[in-house]
Amino acid sequence: MIAQVIINSNVKNLNKTFDYNVPANMEGTICVGDRILVPFGNKKTLEEGFIIGFKEESEYKIKDIAKIQDGIKLTKENIELAKLMARRYFCNLSDCIKLMLPPGTSTKILENRVKDKMLNFVYLKKDIVDVEESLENGTIKSEKQKRVLDFLIKNDGIQSTELEILTDTTSVVLKALEKKNYIEIIEQKVERNPFAHKEIKPTTNLKLTMEQQQAYDNINNAIQNNLYKEALLYGVTGSGKTEIYLQLIGQVLKKEKTAIVLVPEISLTPQMVDRFIARFGESKIAVLHSKLSMGERYDQWNKIKNGECKIVIGARSAIFAPIQNLGLIIIDEEHDSSYKSETNPRYNAKELAGYIAKKNNIPLVLGSATPDINTYFKAKSGKIDLLKLSKRANSSKLPTVQIVDLRNELANGNRSILSVKLYTAIEENLKNKKQTILFLNRRGYSTFVMCRECGYTIKCKNCNITMTYHLKNNRLKCHYCGHEQKNVTECPACKSKNIKYFGTGTQRLEEEINKLYPTASTIRMDVDTVTKKNSHEEILNKFKNEHIDILIGTQMVVKGHHFPEVTLVGVISADSSLYIEDYKANERTFQILTQVAGRAGRENLQGTVIVQTYNPENFAIECSKKQDYDIFYETEIEIRKQLKYPPFCDIICIGITDTDEEKIKNVSERLYNYLESYIKNQNIKAMLYKPLPCPIDRIKNRYRWRIILKGKLNNKLIDVINLSISKIESKTTRITVDTNPNNLV
Ligand code: ADP
Ligand code: ZN
Ligand code: ZN
Repeated sequence: MIAQVIINSNVKNLNKTFDYNVPANMEGTICVGDRILVPFGNKKTLEEGFIIGFKEESEYKIKDIAKIQDGIKLTKENIELAKLMARRYFCNLSDCIKLMLPPGTSTKILENRVKDKMLNFVYLKKDIVDVEESLENGTIKSEKQKRVLDFLIKNDGIQSTELEILTDTTSVVLKALEKKNYIEIIEQKVERNPFAHKEIKPTTNLKLTMEQQQAYDNINNAIQNNLYKEALLYGVTGSGKTEIYLQLIGQVLKKEKTAIVLVPEISLTPQMVDRFIARFGESKIAVLHSKLSMGERYDQWNKIKNGECKIVIGARSAIFAPIQNLGLIIIDEEHDSSYKSETNPRYNAKELAGYIAKKNNIPLVLGSATPDINTYFKAKSGKIDLLKLSKRANSSKLPTVQIVDLRNELANGNRSILSVKLYTAIEENLKNKKQTILFLNRRGYSTFVMCRECGYTIKCKNCNITMTYHLKNNRLKCHYCGHEQKNVTECPACKSKNIKYFGTGTQRLEEEINKLYPTASTIRMDVDTVTKKNSHEEILNKFKNEHIDILIGTQMVVKGHHFPEVTLVGVISADSSLYIEDYKANERTFQILTQVAGRAGRENLQGTVIVQTYNPENFAIECSKKQDYDIFYETEIEIRKQLKYPPFCDIICIGITDTDEEKIKNVSERLYNYLESYIKNQNIKAMLYKPLPCPIDRIKNRYRWRIILKGKLNNKLIDVINLSISKIESKTTRITVDTNPNNLV
């Protein structure tokens, strides 16, 4: 008997199976999905792999399987899903398989015996690519250091003691790496049991409103009759979607089945999880997200695997949870871009959820107040069910939205960040002791630094992008590669001292607000204040519990949280997401504005939203004023149709990067020629655009080109793309294929 084996290797493009002979003594016991060790190439050590099939004969001269590993196995479903993903998302089969294995696999996890609550966590300090490079080019010589870095590349953010056990190293090795700036060791509080010491009052089913009941009945029918269906549950925030989820899960549990609930990582707050615990009890629920320690993740994974937990709540990758007897999948805030992975494997969890639901004959519920244009299109055209909730369940009022035209402010001589209207509204709110949120989608102090004499702008030395000025330590930072340098006082080009800071980031906004309202308390939330030590959660709790007057933040502030005392939301500039040349710019603007508006006045208090913009006539901004998703949709779908954008086709973005500027042009053109001729030969209906440099044409010293293809990504097209890429032989070039990416920079 011959086993077809996929090797768990990081080697790029190792996407094929290898044949191995099954020794006679293994024949009775060995199965598809088994984890095995095999000799590979001329390596001295054995490589790990998984059996994904058997056959009778092999055309090659083959070696024996060395050993069957205990414990972890893949299921048939895992293998099928991984194969589908590798094909559809143009990635390594072994990378897909990894998503389905318990956290920290390939080494034995030992039980965490540490009792202290404060523990040291180890994080990579450099970028993965840089670490990989150091490993490859021999900068790191110590085997122990290599093991640690290798492990962290796969599993970042792990307790130092765990790490030492798993990599068979000591704290001395970690200290050495810390000294070399490869890793950072941070003391953090952990709770082995994510729910520990909480007292949550149990809740029972509420009597559903008529609209809720109709939506519930529709999906419950599919649950009771084991039917596959996809339904969009479209209802404003507070319209009672979560209550419907809870009651549907109740039905699933009654049938002795299980449920997966996907939530955007940033909305996966304790309050959110508490609502599920309050209804079903702690023991049935598993939570999977990136803030858990490796041990916690491992424990949660095992509790799901052995059937203890019936409900999995998690971010994107929880779709791979090893749950059995699945009865329902819910994707909350289905429009959120985090469901699409932007790194390898570039999968779309929504797509996979649809596939899994179909396989299991169960319903998939997609919930949103502002559905993804593609989802709403499917619902409108009858491909999936449309379930609408038009009223807020607790009949709290929607906030009023006012648009301020910043051009008029300028004309009236107001050069401040705040329009007169927003300034007065904040003042009023402070007087009334109510809270305010100010939203600005740019972090840092100012967005670019320019010489007034010659127009020179300071750019990153690795990327073709302007550097952002950060107040702290007086530094310039590149938001793409993380490169930092000291701020300049004179122009590097003409030596003039007339340097000016343009554009406002959250740091500058906070400074201005403190000047304008000296007695008001403020707190800022953006990537720079949310650190590993100082979580997103803690900042929001502080804002709420200590009654801070003004919260200033980037889009992190828009999601999830419920602040009863917030009655005013100010959007400093609604335009930043409009200037990005991307077919999703309008959609993103509308969604951000609607979500921001959702933060104002959620209980009895009437909320006000003031949106400042230079483009008041943009329809996305106009529609957000009326908070009318349907009108927005009608306009947007017409544009998509005219310009042939999703949902009317797939946009396939083939990215090519290389360190050599000459070569990348050449490689891109060759790839284009292959694509062009195959598409023609095979009579495929697709629009192929000539290779061009990406809008940001250099990041981290790699030049970036891309080829865009519009068409339906069907099997024929997948084959053509794969074939074309396989013709390109260049060691330094990296090629990625991304279908309907979140953005096209
Ligand atoms: P969404 O998930 O759409 O934002 P929720 O399910 O969180 O909405 O509901 C908003 C609020 O309304 C919650 O406080 C919830 O308890 C309450 N609620 C939901 N459904 C009902 C109902 N049928 N009767 C009374 N209150 C309800
Ligand atoms: Zn100059
Ligand atoms: Zn850079």
